[in-house]
Amino acid sequence: MMFQTDTYRHKGMRNKLVEIVERKGITNKKVLEAIGKVPRHLFFDPAFLDHAYEDKAFQIGEGQTISQPFTVAYMTEWLETQPGMKVLEVGTGSGYQACVLSEMGVKVFSIERFRALQEKAKKMLHKLGYINIKTFFGDGYAGLPAYAPFDRIIITAAATEIPQLLLKQLKIGGIMILPLGNDENQTMIRMTKTSNNDFKKEAGEGFRFVPMLPGKVH
Ligand code: SAH
Repeated sequence: MMFQTDTYRHKGMRNKLVEIVERKGITNKKVLEAIGKVPRHLFFDPAFLDHAYEDKAFQIGEGQTISQPFTVAYMTEWLETQPGMKVLEVGTGSGYQACVLSEMGVKVFSIERFRALQEKAKKMLHKLGYINIKTFFGDGYAGLPAYAPFDRIIITAAATEIPQLLLKQLKIGGIMILPLGNDENQTMIRMTKTSNNDFKKEAGEGFRFVPMLPGKVH
């Protein structure tokens, strides 16, 4: 693949995107800065570069999508990370959300069930110099027991039920955020682990994600 560059023109388009996301309600300055830093166009096929700085989801192959920038900002804001935290992401996809998290100063462990997407994202993250993101090929329903417990867990695919195994891999005081619902629409849910068996559950806005599916695809 030819490697695209990041130019002042792209930076200008990113600044406009930051304004759009801010107007839609994102107030956390660090999150807005992160959206302003990650070169989203580099996650796009050159033929679709024009769409990279629209506030829209877009196809990335294998029937999957790079999330809408507002959605990425919304989840990142609600995750309330602190620098140095360990964050598990389920659904690496393009790797864009992982980069935004990385810009927040956390260590990202990201799982993807499509081998082709995981490999592509891994290469891109390496090229961009995101050394605090580790990618894994696997089924996110199993989490990453070897790296648990996590301070934060972010699921970027729609789940019909809250994956209990993942709640187990959360530290006490930790937060898991996920879009919960059917194929058509989901509500963003935030689970805060208050003790080994207790959780506080909060509901946020409505979204539409691709489904979280079991198993992995070689
Ligand atoms: N965070 C991504 C969004 C990708 S869309 C980005 O910023 O681009 C959701 C992704 O979740 C898809 O790539 C899909 O293959 C993946 N996915 C769905 N179910 C999964 C599972 N059980 N384990 C790991 N990844 C999963």
